Amino acid sequence: MPERTESESRKLLGRLRDTLAEDSAGQERLDRITHIIADQMGTDVCSIYLFRDPETLELCATEGLNQEAVHQTRMRIGEGLVGRVAKSANPINTPDAPSMRGFRFMPETGEESFSSFLGVPIQRLGDRLGVLVVQSKDARTYTDDEVYALEVVAMVLAEMTELGAFIGEGEALSARHTRQELFRGGIAQEGATEGNVYLHEPRVVVTNPIADDPHAELKRLNEAMDSLRSSVDQMLQSMGKTTDKEQVKVLEAYRMFANSRSWVRRMEEDIALGLSAEAAVEKEQSATRARMEQVPDPYLRDRLHDLDDLSNRLLRLLTGQGADTGAEMPEHPILVARNIGPGELLDYGKKLRGIVLEEGSVGSHAAIVARAWAIPLVINAKRILTEALNGDHILVDGDQGIVHLRPEDAVAAAFRDKIAMQTQAQERYASIRDKPAETICGKVISLHMNAGLMADLPSLEGSGAEGVGLFRTELQFLTRSRVPRRSELATIYGSVMSAAKGKRVIFRTLDIGSDKVLPYMKPTEEPNPAMGWRAIRVALDKKGVMRMQLQALIRAAAGRPLSVMFPFVAQFDEFREARQHLLSELEREKKMGHVLPSKVEIGTMLETPSLAFAPKQFFELADFISIGGNDLKQFFFAADRENERVRKRYDTLNVSFLTMLEMIATRCAETDTPLSFCGEDAGRPVEALCFAAIGMRSLSMRPASIGPVKSLLRRSNLDEVKSVIDEARGNGAQSVRPAVIKWLTGQT
Ligand code: PEP
Ligand code: MG
Repeated sequence: MPERTESESRKLLGRLRDTLAEDSAGQERLDRITHIIADQMGTDVCSIYLFRDPETLELCATEGLNQEAVHQTRMRIGEGLVGRVAKSANPINTPDAPSMRGFRFMPETGEESFSSFLGVPIQRLGDRLGVLVVQSKDARTYTDDEVYALEVVAMVLAEMTELGAFIGEGEALSARHTRQELFRGGIAQEGATEGNVYLHEPRVVVTNPIADDPHAELKRLNEAMDSLRSSVDQMLQSMGKTTDKEQVKVLEAYRMFANSRSWVRRMEEDIALGLSAEAAVEKEQSATRARMEQVPDPYLRDRLHDLDDLSNRLLRLLTGQGADTGAEMPEHPILVARNIGPGELLDYGKKLRGIVLEEGSVGSHAAIVARAWAIPLVINAKRILTEALNGDHILVDGDQGIVHLRPEDAVAAAFRDKIAMQTQAQERYASIRDKPAETICGKVISLHMNAGLMADLPSLEGSGAEGVGLFRTELQFLTRSRVPRRSELATIYGSVMSAAKGKRVIFRTLDIGSDKVLPYMKPTEEPNPAMGWRAIRVALDKKGVMRMQLQALIRAAAGRPLSVMFPFVAQFDEFREARQHLLSELEREKKMGHVLPSKVEIGTMLETPSLAFAPKQFFELADFISIGGNDLKQFFFAADRENERVRKRYDTLNVSFLTMLEMIATRCAETDTPLSFCGEDAGRPVEALCFAAIGMRSLSMRPASIGPVKSLLRRSNLDEVKSVIDEARGNGAQSVRPAVIKWLTGQT
């Protein structure tokens, strides 16, 4: 970059900083800034457009256009050249603006006399704040250096905006992070909750975007880069001979970026133009975030994420602001994070009231933990991290996947009504907690709860569940950095049984693979992991872990009854073989002098359609069967349970699926094999009612669902529900849901 551009840019930034230091109002500052930029860059016009709401830009200050247009001229994002700069987050540079596609003439501004146009986005870490424009009468094309210099100025304006330098009258100049914001995300755990934001990683605040001494800033940048490189090298070394290829891949990408000359060169150029080292890092990070939004390729997006993470580390090194800023956890904390692992979530414990993630997925391990704890969780709440500040008032509607940040009073009041109604309903459910789920026609359905952590066990009493119908044992494996020891597992399982105080707990052996990848497991590249080497398939091929787990279960029982079930069995032989392993382990434990369980029941999950058609002998041999509807449904409809696009396409109450469930219930009844349903659908009242109507007598669900399900069952006559179902089936309905809902609505 030419010396002259550098010194001009530094002069310009110096003048901007002086303006910022003066004690003046926001509007005055903006006016002065447009004057300084036009003067310093030798342009006829300089204008600043800021967002007044997420869709609308407003002309907030200008040098060269009609002053009457200030705060009057507005455009939608994408509209006109200014709107296009805002939408694409890319500069537009043209010598002949009126001939450009999308040019919109604004008569009130008097801009018809200006031919050249250069607009750059004012953005900060993915947060679009506005557009900075310079225009000239002559048809000039601004040089790359001029474009770059204007981007640097826009970066400083973004920082100033964040620091509240332009607060004034009107929506466009209102203080940042004060407006009410609504985010629509995905539902990962239902429930409504109110609280205050607690950021998992508080954002770094850059208080000095402009620096006088580029040499000193370069030195600071280089020192921080050195520390960054050595910390990445250390991390890679400490991974040693790890088999976790994914983690190594990420660290290698970190190392590649940390050594990337082009990344460092861009930051050095920013510094030469007058930015401080941290502002230079943030400028490049903002550009990365803008690119991240536009890159559809998941691999490239991941790499941009890596670069973004690395920039965060660099910023923390430069500013000395660690991840732990000492911000106190507010009352009723609602965790806001880009993403979070199950281990970190477990560290926070149950004190969280809710969780909002900018990314995340329904099937993630964190979602499993949140569900187990019944903490409302909204995922994919885009932009929440750029908006939320520690302590902000926040409402999380996990039922609809909606988040209100800094809500207005009326919104908060309506939301509280909703929570109150839910609380009232919970109180109603508490009053039937110790009553059986007995229908009007006299059928009793046993309701059990699903669990996966020791922390879930207190819900056994609170929910009125008869026992634990599914204890997912994988969480103890997922949250460790190595395979847990047999003694550790025996202690945990023993504590679970003790906490259940004699109520039955069905332990499901390790169900890993598919989306549940152990950090220390050698990853297998499979084209379709959900249908790949998972659960019982891994256990039967690599028997060591299964045998160790079975021994831990036997020792944990120590004279108490033990119920074990195997996941993802697809054919009779797999069950026979797994069952035989348990019998052999019992034999072995006996020989070793351990006390055997007083009674052992060996069952299986039914999660693949094939097992529904297994020989009668299979049903006779199984002590019990539990339908894993989440998986069974995905394989029945060939619709990935993690793929939001196809997941909701097929209704659980679809006639074909329901008819298969009925067939399973009939086959179990013929062989007297106890049958339960433990997929998520068991916890949905209408589904649960239909399952009971087609013959199921046991359901296992999230503890919070037991009340609503029991309440509906106790009000229903299953014979009538069965007639409604049969009639709908007879009429060729695709799903029985509309008919059942209509019947239920007629009942009330
Ligand atoms: C199921 O598939 O329905 C089930 C209960 O198992 P998971 O959700 O753990 O796969
Ligand atoms: Mg399953």
